[in-house]
Formats: sequence, structure tokens, C-alpha cells
Amino acid sequence: MDMAFVEVCLRMLLVFVLSWTIFHVTNRKKKKATKLADVATEERKEGGPDVIIVGAGVGGSALAYALAKDGRRVHVIERDMREPVRMMGEFMQPGGRLMLSKLGLQDCLEEIDAQKSTGIRLFKDGKETAACFPVDTNFPYEPSGRFFHNGRFVQRLRQKASSLPNVRLEEGTVRSLIEEKGVVKGVTYKNSSGEETTSFAPLTVVCDGCHSNLRRSLNDNNAEVTAYEIGYISRNCRLEQPDKLHLIMAKPSFAMMYQISSTDVRCNFELLSKNLPSVSNGEMASFVKNSIAPQVPLKLRKTFLKGLDEGSHIKITQAKRMPATLSRKKGVIVLGDAFNMRHPVIASGMMVLLSDILILSRLLKPLGNLGDENKVSEVMKSFYALRKPMSATVNTLGNSFWQVLIASTDEAREAMRQGCFDYLSSGGFRTSGLMALIGGMNPRPLSLFYHLFVISLSSIGQLLSPFPTPLRVWHSLRLLDLSLKMLVPHLKAEGIGQMLSPTNAAAYRKSYMAATVV
Ligand SMILES: Cc1cc2nc3c(=O)[nH]c(=O)nc-3n(C[C@H](O)[C@H](O)[C@H](O)COP(=O)(O)OP(=O)(O)OC[C@H]3O[C@@H](n4cnc5c(N)ncnc54)[C@H](O)[C@@H]3O)c2cc1C
Repeated sequence: MDMAFVEVCLRMLLVFVLSWTIFHVTNRKKKKATKLADVATEERKEGGPDVIIVGAGVGGSALAYALAKDGRRVHVIERDMREPVRMMGEFMQPGGRLMLSKLGLQDCLEEIDAQKSTGIRLFKDGKETAACFPVDTNFPYEPSGRFFHNGRFVQRLRQKASSLPNVRLEEGTVRSLIEEKGVVKGVTYKNSSGEETTSFAPLTVVCDGCHSNLRRSLNDNNAEVTAYEIGYISRNCRLEQPDKLHLIMAKPSFAMMYQISSTDVRCNFELLSKNLPSVSNGEMASFVKNSIAPQVPLKLRKTFLKGLDEGSHIKITQAKRMPATLSRKKGVIVLGDAFNMRHPVIASGMMVLLSDILILSRLLKPLGNLGDENKVSEVMKSFYALRKPMSATVNTLGNSFWQVLIASTDEAREAMRQGCFDYLSSGGFRTSGLMALIGGMNPRPLSLFYHLFVISLSSIGQLLSPFPTPLRVWHSLRLLDLSLKMLVPHLKAEGIGQMLSPTNAAAYRKSYMAATVV
């Protein structure tokens, strides 16, 4: 037989097999999609949920409560209902407490042995100072924060959400989002009996935290690991000033101590390299004793070492940052750490998240049908713009404050670090202004710029004193350059236009920082 003829036949066979396969696969997909749509419609007829929330951490639980209060049927799926034991979210800023009360969740900070916080106690090179949250701002709430065990707070939020009849809080691990023509229709999950199952709703909210897997298919943003937080608990002890967050400006970065219950003190510190001493073979404990503890002031050192000596479990948590971007897909919203992260040094992740929930729930409230993708998209654009002045201010402050705290042999950097300590020690309106900013009591971009500018100027003043020499002038110029390098990338990432929009800032202040508490 002619070889050319055989080749033509083989080619035709190949084309036929390929076409057949493509036809059947597409058909199967179509059938599956129709089946899913049928199940979704059936669930809606049977009174299925209006919203699915993935994750019942701080954000998922608070959002479930807010949406259910507005009459929505909410299905929350959480992979582990046990009390979380973790080293994050242990301090609620005064601004966060205001948001919590506006959401009607202020009682979740009760009965968990939370400790009142009035400000910071700062230590550097043998000197110390204290800075308090101011009482004389226009802040419409009691100007104090709370320290607590994060897991106890999360359990209270979960209880509060599930106390509403229209919230169904179920244990299960969400595997994937169910999509139809680019619109998210629901989720597949493994329930507590180990069965693979599905849930459908017009809107899905992904709130699965800093290690979110679902985020990747929805957003373009990438989380950057900036440092490692290492910590443990010293039990049965009390700090001399339990109402202060003790911030020790150490090397290579900071250390912290704070009273998370009437008897427990959280001790932690930061390392910058990913080559960390091993916890399992005891290298980390030795490192803490030999390198970090000697930098802790003598009066705090016994408490700092107690947890280690008693074999308290050492935890390591990544500090990440990630600017916010809106989801590419319809029918889904991403919130919390899955949406936006900043360095945790100013302890404000929960505050930004609660503020986001307040904005979003108010914007969604008038919508009759959460399945109206265009209206939800409009809401999300407004949400993104409205949150900017507050979230971008807090994020920029957190990220730049962290960079200033890193110890360095560079004179310009060190002058800025010292300048920050001096600024918080100076008392008066400078200290109270910066503390109002840190506490989320006055999260205005212009206030942020003002304080960062004055800190840089006074650091330059210190560098030039007692009189300017060419070398001092050179270091001062480098300091100015450094402060711009620290600030500008964060501002770019946040989107300076929306951050500085006077309309958004005014609308945010009027609606969300105002005195009325719901
Ligand atoms: C070291 C460190 C310290 C911090 N300290 C503070 C602080 O003091 N104050 C502050 O305000 N903020 C702090 N933050 C930030 C704060 O903890 C977070 O912003 C906040 O917890 C985010 O809440 P979330 O609901 O997004 O995530 P989480 O509270 O982490 O909740 C996510 C939930 O989703 C669940 N989940 C995950 N995947 C799935 C899945 N596939 N299916 C079902 N459920 C799932 C998880 O089990 C979890 O319960 C800190 C952060 C870090 C890293």
C-alpha cells in the first residue's frame, strides 16, 4: 500500500479520535454544569443559604453575624471548630474595639479574661518611655485596647454568630470553588464525617486566613514574607504594668511582652532570616537565652525567661504583607488576611478587617438579591474605594514602622530608629497624635504623612547637632532618601490616589468613625 495513503488515513483517524474526545468532554462538562445549576436552584427553593463563608476565624465569624443580623441565611464552613491556639491577633486596638461595638460584637471581649491596655512602654539602649492612647481626640469610644488569648476571642465570635437562627456553622474543609462561566456558585467541601459534599449560594466569601489556598485563583496579589515572629507564653506571672504593650527595640529587630490574661504573659521577638535556629533540638531556646534575653531590660528578664525555663511551647509565625486587590471573578468576595496583610508590629490586622466588614455589610444591606453579580460588583468597587483611606493608612504605618525598628549599623538608619523613640518620648501632641494613629483612633493619611515627616525632620536635626559637618550633612541626606524609600513603595502599592481621596476619607469618617454605635 502506498505510504502516503496510510499517512492520510492515520491523520484522519487521529482527527476523528481528537474530535470525539473533545465533543464528549465538553458535553460532560455541560451536563455537570447543568446538574450543578439544578442542585443550586433546588437548594435555593429549599431555603438554601444566601451566603457561604469559608473560614470561621475572626473575619468569617464577625461577617456571619453582621450578614445574619441583616436577615441573610449564612452557611459558614470552618475546618477546625476547636479553640485555636496561635500567636496572632492577641491585641485589639481602641479603633478595633470601636468597630467591634459598631458590629454589635463588643461582648465577645468579655468573659475571656481580656486585659485592658492604655498604651505602649518602649525600651531602647537602657532607656525607657511610655506613650498612652490619648483621651482628648474626637474618638467616640473608650480609648483603650484589649490583650487576650486569640483562641478564646475567636470562640466567642463563633458562639455569637451561631446563636443567630439563620447562621449554620458547620465543620468542614473547603476544597474548591464551584464555577460556572467565570461565576462562583458555591464550594465543594469535606464535612466532619469525611464525605465530599457541596454547598451553593448566590455569594461566597473567602475568609480562610493568611495561608489561603482559595485566594490564588481569585486574586493576582502575592503575599511577601517579611520576617518571622517567634514566641511563647510565660505562665503564672504578671507584668509590673500589665496595661502596657512592652516594646523592646533590640537587635536584629524588636521583642515584645504583653499580658494576655490575668496570669499569662506573651513573650515574642522577631528574626529576619529564614535560617532559624531549630526549635526541636533546643537551639532556639539557647538562642533566646544567649542573644535575645540579654537585651531585655533586667526588670522584665525573669518573666521573659520563665516560659522558656518551664518548657513553654515555642511557636514560629510568618509576618507577611500583601496589598489588597479585588477578585477577578464574580459571585465571590475575598476578605481578611486572604485579601490584605501588613506587618503585624502595630497589631492592627483585626481592626482593618472589622472595619472592612462594617463597610461591606452596610453596602450589601440594601441589595435584595446577592446573586445580582453586576450590583455586587458595583458594591465591591465602592467598598474598595471607601476602605482605602483607613486601610492604606494603617498598612503604610505598619510596614514603615516595622522597617524603622530594624537595627542597623548604618548611621542614617540608626538615627531614624532613635528619632522614632525620641518622638514617642517627647510627650504632648506629637506622642498623642502618633498614638491615636497607631490605635486606629484617627486613621487619616494626612496625619500619617505629618508624623512621618516630623519624625524624619527631627532625626535629621539630631544627626546635624551640635553643628553640621560635611559627614553629618551627608548622613542627613541619606536619611531623607531612606525615609522616602521606606514610604514610597508602600504608597504605590496601596494606590495613593484612592488613599488621599478627600471624598472617600470624609465618607469613611462620617459613617464609620462617628459616635453612633449600632
Ligand atoms: C504574628 C502575627 C501577630 C498578629 N497580631 C495581631 C494583633 O495583635 N492584633 C491584630 O489586630 N492583628 C494581629 N495580626 C493579624 C490578625 O491575626 C489577622 O489579621 C486576623 O486574624 C485575620 O483574620 P481572618 O479571619 O482573615 O483569618 P483567621 O482568623 O486566620 O481565620 C481563618 C479561618 O479559616 C479557616 N480555614 C482556612 N482554610 C479553610 C478551608 N479550606 N476550609 C474551611 N476553613 C478554613 C481556619 O481554620 C481559620 O479558622 C497578627 C498577625 C500575625 C502574623
